Amino acid sequence: MKGVFRIALLTALPIWGAQVRIGVLGLFRPAAVTLEAKGIEIGGEHIELHDAAEVKAMGNRVAVTVGGRERMGTRLAASGSRARVSIAGKISRAYEGSLEITAREGVLCVVVTMDRERAVAVVAASEMPHALPEALKALAVAARSYYAAGGRHNDFDFCDTTHCQVLKEPASEAESAARETRGQVLFYHGGIVRALYFGSCGVRTFAASDVGMDGGSYPFFAVACEACARRPEQWEARLPVRTVERTEAARLELARRFGWSSVASNDYAWERTSAGVILRGKGHGHGVGLCQRGAEGMARSGQRAESILEHYFPMTSVGR
Ligand SMILES: [Zn+2]
Ligand SMILES: [Zn+2]
Repeated sequence: MKGVFRIALLTALPIWGAQVRIGVLGLFRPAAVTLEAKGIEIGGEHIELHDAAEVKAMGNRVAVTVGGRERMGTRLAASGSRARVSIAGKISRAYEGSLEITAREGVLCVVVTMDRERAVAVVAASEMPHALPEALKALAVAARSYYAAGGRHNDFDFCDTTHCQVLKEPASEAESAARETRGQVLFYHGGIVRALYFGSCGVRTFAASDVGMDGGSYPFFAVACEACARRPEQWEARLPVRTVERTEAARLELARRFGWSSVASNDYAWERTSAGVILRGKGHGHGVGLCQRGAEGMARSGQRAESILEHYFPMTSVGR
């Protein structure tokens, strides 16, 4: 009886209209940011902003200077539905949603709570800015599934890096991809798939277990990829290590040590030299789930988003 009730409750919750809390710009570990918004709230006080506000972390508190006067509080909230956050000399980004800033040990934590459909549009635009509409729609469903499958952080649900999903600024083509697939997510045995995707593969994708990744409730399957098989993206790397292991964890570890593009994918052959190893590989990214280059190739040959999803996520179904 209890189980039945839970299922009824879950299906009663609209899958659209949901919100996601995304921690943004954490990669920069900012001690200070510039905030442009309609107004701010801090320490119970509401202040209209006519100029940008300078926000700083003071230990676990947030300090903001507006019009030459400083206010402190444990939490700063921006009013209005749009705000821009800039880190001097590094990055400036606009967000649509409600934004709040807290601080921990001198580092600001910026969290944007946004409509999940908006976030899906922004992710799709960030990942495939020049894609054909059907490829973009397939990616929108994957991105929405990823969010709907549940949060991965403590202070917020998702981050804005490749650890979760990259979130930049919206573009109009992606907005229609999100709108036309509104609410659609991927299901596998009744659960929502944490749908993964990546740039390009060699000749086929990997099952999650092939590269030591945890696919959650979905195993992911190795499928042939026509566009990449025809003309794969190739790369070569020389690294001062004695051995390499073909897992995503090992690839990320090498990336941390030798730079982000040092081992571009998990599809490579390697040989030992006197100075270390030479890797000759194909593709870009972890190789599990939807191949963006392959999806683009399928869309170009006239295939619809549903066929693209069926191809890269076998045994799943699209539903709301
Ligand atoms: Zn994350
Ligand atoms: Zn591919």
